[in-house]
Amino acid sequence: MTVPAYGAHAADKPLEPMQIPRREPGPSDVQIEIAYCGVCHSDLHTVRSEWGGTLFPCVPGHEIVGQVSAVGDQVTRFKVGDTVGVGCMVGSCQQCASCRDGEEQYCTGTGFIGTYNGATEDAPGHTLGGYSQRIVTDENFVLHIRHPQDQLAAVAPLLCAGITTYSPLRHWNVGPGKKVGVVGIGGLGHMAIKIAHAMGAHVVAFTTSESKREDAKKLGADEVINSRNSEEVESHADTFDFILDTVAASHDLDTFTNLLKRDGTLTLVGVPEHPHPSPSVFNLIFRRRAVAGSLIGGIAETQEMLDFCAEHGIVADIEMIRIQEIDEAYDRMQRSDVKYRFVIDNSTLSA
Ligand code: NAP
Ligand code: ZN
Repeated sequence: MTVPAYGAHAADKPLEPMQIPRREPGPSDVQIEIAYCGVCHSDLHTVRSEWGGTLFPCVPGHEIVGQVSAVGDQVTRFKVGDTVGVGCMVGSCQQCASCRDGEEQYCTGTGFIGTYNGATEDAPGHTLGGYSQRIVTDENFVLHIRHPQDQLAAVAPLLCAGITTYSPLRHWNVGPGKKVGVVGIGGLGHMAIKIAHAMGAHVVAFTTSESKREDAKKLGADEVINSRNSEEVESHADTFDFILDTVAASHDLDTFTNLLKRDGTLTLVGVPEHPHPSPSVFNLIFRRRAVAGSLIGGIAETQEMLDFCAEHGIVADIEMIRIQEIDEAYDRMQRSDVKYRFVIDNSTLSA
């Protein structure tokens, strides 16, 4: 069958309506009618081939929520009518050490299969994401959503922005008594502030947008720093246990390594088109500081994050758009003008 979708035919072309194939559900598949899909900066990086390697036509979207409309006969965990989500992955080898540890995003067998731009036997030979009416996904990569139904659109961004920040915050033991920095208040950053606050940490937000200062406090930041104000930044030298950097553009990392205590870690989740300048080694060795990276999160941890957010009443702050507004949304995201995640109303695909 084919379904309506929105995608691009080349890196320098705008997104446009298209019909895409979806397979009939196999024995372990769940077929989902997509209600909403969040707009991640990775969608923009991929559509414009900023990281290289984009396969066209490209249909992005990996913050998917909707309702189950069919299940294969071996599916045990989902039934028709369930409210579910699909995040950044739709497959992995399920056998390597990472997959066995529930860290499918680090699969060393086949590598994880992305929800878009990943390898598949389905036409057209690469996966197509959530800017579409329907998706068919192996049940091992489908998540239960337990938030109230009226919050569904605002839950969508948890599937990428939520887990990409929750996972490193957990891994580096963020909680009461820890001073935690979040750099960049966009889709990922605003979720990091909410989640780190709910984990009980002292949260400091770093922004280049003075206009986000008051919002950051409402999101749960205890302090807000303009990262372009060096005096304000340097007054926090040697005080942070952990800093999560979500910035989508190349920048000076020394500003932030300098703020870490002995043994503190700066973890990068933003993946800019152009590399960051190499960090100062002196800054690292004199306090045994670390610079690390982190990629989304495993499926079990994504479910844990969704349940944690449901329990703490956490959703994203969203601006709903019609699919026809996607190019304008990308341009605004490029200018850091999003408060704080665009979410597509997928019913507009049939408009
Ligand atoms: P976003 O909504 O565009 O937010 C990025 C924020 O970075 C902006 O709102 C802005 O915050 C700040 N920023 C942008 N340009 C800047 C510049 N030139 N200098 C300093 N700060 C700047 O993007 P997102 O969806 O949160 O994604 C952020 C990055 O994470 C992207 O590169 C994305 O591809 C990547 N990502 C990685 C993973 C992973 O698994 N590691 C998963 C998802 C996304 P302020 O206005 O507050 O300064
Ligand atoms: Zn994403």
